[in-house]
Amino acid sequence: MLTLAVQKSGRLSEKTMKLLEDCGISVQNGATAKLQARAENFPLQVLYLRDDDIPECVADGIADIGIVGENVFLEKARKVSIIKRLGFSRCRMSIAVPKEFDYKSVRDLDGKSIATSYPNILKAFLQRENVKAEIHEISGSVEIAPGIGLADAVFDIVSTGSTLISNGLKEVEITLQSEAIIIGKDTINAEKQEIIDELIFRIKAINRAKKNKYIMMNAPNEAIPEIVKILPGIKAPTIVPLSIEGWSSVQSVIEESEFWERIQKLKMTGAEGIIVVPLEKMID
Ligand code: ATP
Ligand code: ZN
Repeated sequence: MLTLAVQKSGRLSEKTMKLLEDCGISVQNGATAKLQARAENFPLQVLYLRDDDIPECVADGIADIGIVGENVFLEKARKVSIIKRLGFSRCRMSIAVPKEFDYKSVRDLDGKSIATSYPNILKAFLQRENVKAEIHEISGSVEIAPGIGLADAVFDIVSTGSTLISNGLKEVEITLQSEAIIIGKDTINAEKQEIIDELIFRIKAINRAKKNKYIMMNAPNEAIPEIVKILPGIKAPTIVPLSIEGWSSVQSVIEESEFWERIQKLKMTGAEGIIVVPLEKMID
């Protein structure tokens, strides 16, 4: 049995639960569950916690792995490592100043005070840049600090930047990019490692499927050599004869990023009735 720590409710929880569901793991949702819940069809127990407690919980062995924002993982600096990047809950950590602040470079922060809930990440950044600023640690609503005269600048999570703007702030330094990650201890027993490997295998299949589409079209047989050149597919496209003489159905997998460019080329070959459908799982 593997124990996974996740955020009980917040910006990570919905996507975390969706990920487990896509992996075929049914477990009670954090919003209704108590502290822990056992998955029905996978050797997994889920602990619902505040995200700030997850790195420590994993480091202490209360949970074997955890899903947490990279920002929290870096801030807490516990003896745990990144097992897998998950690509959701993306945000950045930035320094922002009041919009009338005439900011030219990081040197302008010398002697200033910066409010943050991430003192460790900020301290490392200031040291790296050789800036001597005072760190003012507050636990929430960091963005209001300059407005009430508590600090000259803020260091916080930014995703769209709209919170900053509505508080009269402008983003001046981006110090790191963050996404949800799975963290774990470096040493784990073989039985648990096997469960982690199975989980990662499923996550990879889901993520791969998300980046690809299944494409089908009808084409005159003489166009097939040209279509095959345009469609790489996993190995090679599948070609099935249609009931109309001289026509075939051509089917393949295409990366979403290449999709629009290739669709135009496909149409020029004489392909028609092009259908594109999402994939759910994709295994190597
Ligand atoms: P908790 O109550 O668990 O302590 P919290 O209030 O500290 O929650 P949330 O606001 O739920 O934390 O954010 C959790 C994580 O989601 C952040 O640490 C960050 O990695 C990511 N995150 C934060 N803001 C955003 C956003 N606007 N968009 C996407 N991801 C975000
Ligand atoms: Zn938190």
